[in-house]
Order: sequence, then C-alpha cells, then structure tokens
Amino acid sequence: MRTVTGPTDRVVIVGAGLAGLATALHLAAAGRQVTVVEREPVPGGRAGRLAMGGYEFDTGPTVLTMPDLIAEPLNAVGENLSDWLELTPIDPAYRAYYPDGSTLDVRTDTTRMAAEIARVCGSREADGYLRFVDFTRRLWQLERNHFIDKNLDSPVDLMNLNLLKLLGLGAFRRLQPKIDQYFRDPRTQRIFSFQAMYAGLAPHDALAIYAVIAYLDSVAGVYFPKGGMHAVPRALAGAAEKHGVTFRYETTVERVVIENGRATGVLTTDGEHIPADAVVLNPDLPIAYRDLLPARRQRKLTYSPSCVVLHIGSDQAYSKIAHHNIHFGTAWKGTFDEVIRKGLLMSDPSLLVTNPTHSDPTVAPAGKQTYYVLAPTPNLEAGPIDWRGGMDKRYADEILRVLENRGYVGFRDGVEVQRIITPADWADQGMAAGTPFAAAHTFAQTGPFRPSNLHPTLPNVVFTGSGTQPGVGVPMVLISGKLAASRITGGAA
Ligand SMILES: Cc1cc2nc3c(=O)[nH]c(=O)nc-3n(C[C@H](O)[C@H](O)[C@H](O)COP(=O)(O)OP(=O)(O)OC[C@H]3O[C@@H](n4cnc5c(N)ncnc54)[C@H](O)[C@@H]3O)c2cc1C
Repeated sequence: MRTVTGPTDRVVIVGAGLAGLATALHLAAAGRQVTVVEREPVPGGRAGRLAMGGYEFDTGPTVLTMPDLIAEPLNAVGENLSDWLELTPIDPAYRAYYPDGSTLDVRTDTTRMAAEIARVCGSREADGYLRFVDFTRRLWQLERNHFIDKNLDSPVDLMNLNLLKLLGLGAFRRLQPKIDQYFRDPRTQRIFSFQAMYAGLAPHDALAIYAVIAYLDSVAGVYFPKGGMHAVPRALAGAAEKHGVTFRYETTVERVVIENGRATGVLTTDGEHIPADAVVLNPDLPIAYRDLLPARRQRKLTYSPSCVVLHIGSDQAYSKIAHHNIHFGTAWKGTFDEVIRKGLLMSDPSLLVTNPTHSDPTVAPAGKQTYYVLAPTPNLEAGPIDWRGGMDKRYADEILRVLENRGYVGFRDGVEVQRIITPADWADQGMAAGTPFAAAHTFAQTGPFRPSNLHPTLPNVVFTGSGTQPGVGVPMVLISGKLAASRITGGAA
C-alpha cells in the first residue's frame, strides 16, 4: 500500500463530513495531532440539520445501515457506540407500495420476510428470496475485506482468490438478470434491485456486486438514531473532541498551501495559515481538485443521478405508513431511462417518503409530523433543468399532487412548513454536477478505478469521502475515513 511520505505528526482535515470525522478518530487513535476545519457551524456535511418552525429535519441520509461501521472509529479511541448513540432497529425496514394497490413489508428477519413474501407473492417467490439472501450474504463476505475495506492502488491488488469466487458467483454480470434468477414477481424484483440507484445506476446497467446494498438494508437491517441521523456526526465529533481533536467550525479553507511539491498546511478565507505535515480533503473530490489544489487536468467522470428532497412539517398523520415508505410508479426501466439517460424528470414517479416522527416524535412540535420526500432527478449534466426559474416550486407542487393520489389524503392541507432542496442547491453546496451521490459506480469508477484517495503528485495530500474509494453512502464513507487514515499512519485498513 502506498502511504504519505515524510512526517505526519500534525494533520489538518478539511471538512467534518462523516468521512472527515472517521478519519479524525482513526488518526487521533494513532497519536496524530488533528485539526478539523469545517465551513459550517456544525459537523455532518450532507448529514446535516434543518430547523423550521419548531420542526427538525435531517437534510441527507435517512436510511442508516451497518451501525458496526459507526462503532469502528469510536472503538479506535476506546469509546463505545452505545455511550454516544441510541439506535433503534426499524421494523419494517421499508414498506413498499405498488401500483396494483398491494404492499410488502421488508423485514430484516429472514424467516418473517420469507413469510411476508409468501403472503404477497406466493411460496415459490419466498424460496427465491431465501436463495437471494444466501447469495448476497456470500457477496458481502467476499467483498468487504478484500475489495471495500482495503486501499487499492492498482487492479493487481484485486487479484486474489476472492476475485475468482466473485466471478464464479456471477458478481461481475449485470444486476437485473441476476435478480431475475431469484425473483419472478415484479414487486420483489423491484424491492431488491432499486438500491442500484444508490450506486448511481439502473439495475440493468449496474454490476451484480451491488446486490450487497440490498443485503445491507434489507437483510442486515435499518436503524434510526434517537434525535435523527444528524446525531451520528454529532456523536463522532463529540468523541473526537474528547480525544484531543481540535475543531475549527465556521472556517472555510480557500486552498491547500504547497511549497516545494508538498502541502504545508491550508489557507483559510480569513487569511489564516494552518500548518500541517499532511492534509486530508473531505469536500467532494472533483471540487477539491478544482478549488483547493493547483490546477491539473481532470479525468472526466460520469455522475450519479441527483435528487430533490421535500421537507414537510405537518399536522396530518397517516396511521398506515411505516418509517420508510417506497411508492413505486407503474413505469420501471423507463423511469431510470428518463432520469439517467434522457435527463428528464420522472413522468410516473417512484418516491421515498420517510416519516421520522413515526420513530421519534421529539423532532416535531407535540402532535405534529415530519415528512422527508425524496424524488430521484437527473444531475445537472444529464438534465440542465432551470431549478431556480420556478421549477423548484412547480416540482414541489407535483410531488404533493402525486402523494395525494397515492393515498396521502389531505397532505397539502396539512403542510405547516415546507422546504424543497434541488440539484441547484446541491451544486451550491459544492457537489459536482449538482448531485449529492458523487461519481456513479460504473465498472470504470469502482475499486482501483475510482479516483484514488492519494494525490497523484503531492505526496502528503489524501482524499476521503464519497468521491473516492470505496464510494457513496454512510457505510462507505465511514470506511473511506479509515482508508484515508491508514494512508497516513501506514497501519492496516
Ligand atoms: C438527500 C440525500 C440522501 C441520502 N440518503 C442516504 C441514505 O439514506 N443512506 C446512506 O447511507 N447515504 C445516503 N446519502 C449519502 C450520504 O449522505 C453521503 O454519501 C455521505 O454523507 C457523504 O459524506 P462525506 O463525508 O463524503 O461528504 P460531506 O458530508 O459532503 O462532507 C464534506 C464536508 O466538507 C465541508 N467543506 C466543503 N468545502 C469546504 C471548505 N472549503 N472548507 C471547509 N469545509 C469544507 C462541508 O461543509 C462538509 O461538512 C444521502 C445523501 C443525500 C444528500
């Protein structure tokens, strides 16, 4: 594994996103003197907080999987997850709603899930599900240690026995035909393949290795932290502070200072030079290259689709919904084509509706509800939609109309506070192509082919976060924090 050369005693981390925080904890555990410089007043980055009229909203991730990956950086400094976060398993993990009026509860207990599938789709489908669980569990075991939780310097690093085993499992074929081997019913096919969208691809384009995402949420379980997802970065930052990490909030880095081919620290927009032996960059990787580092030719990346999030504080409650609700439209392949290939808004939307007050009423005034509605959209490269020219309000209206048609009777009348976040907002927050989901996980942008977490010429500049290895999502960026730290310490990752 290549590592940072020269002294590494003082490290400056730019950004207190989940990746920057995980890096900070691992480096503090290894005895480094760490300063985190964050432009916002709070940690979390995309896992941020929005307060409106007594309501509290998580701005980014809502589906929390693999809590042992949150425990890992805490354990590194001798802390226990349970002392910092109160996590509750969400049951069902999702409730799926189909155009024919049927619903399917996704249970992480495989016996109960098999019974649910048998109830809705028949016993042959339930058998297919049990075989699918075996397949994805095996995938995760093979991928985790050798491909995901490992710094990969070149494709040669992939050459191990597990690669052959993965090839044998068909993990490098397309996801959709793999799903079709286990499921015949379009409802189960959808609920176990839509996760490809998290990797930035349609199921018919994604590799079957991404079936592990379905494993992580549908089988390994979905959790909710008391207080909301923003409690996760707060916990990590609190533990880091306790173990000697210095946080400089409301401080924006203008650029990395380079002398004689090495980074010597960072310069803030206030003109302060913060010295460092090594610098870790957590902002979106293409933007870090563009804004914070000396100009160099950038590789052209293909970006994931983006999304609109509609935050609603409401006095309307719906007793039949779960914490996470996925409302599938009738269209399927066509919806992916619209959003990814044609750069169009979904004509027959599939929506994620999260109702955090379902699990934690404290995030809203007494008796009130919060709703977080996520609609996939094209990123700004695929679909240069003029979000600022009134499209944001029109689309919020369209989402309310669709939800009312899908059973949320009186949804519009219940709205007390509302905010829509669009790809234009993600771009303003420093996300390339206006997507919070980074470079898509195509084969050419996966593993050793994804932008490296080491700068190609500056020997003490490291990247962390969803733009680099292993990739996007809370579990992956927590791992990327550990990988970045090990580039500096030379320790195992
Ligand atoms: C709407 C949405 C829904 C999502 N849903 C899920 C989900 O359900 N489950 C899941 O696992 N993942 C989900 N994700 C993805 C997940 O949130 C991200 O992959 C992850 O949080 C990214 O973390 P990061 O540390 O890479 O980057 P960030 O969180 O973006 O951190 C970068 C940090 O750098 C700071 N920064 C940037 N520039 C500067 C500068 N010049 N100076 C100082 N500081 C700077 C930023 O303020 C920020 O704090 C979702 C994301 C979004 C936005």
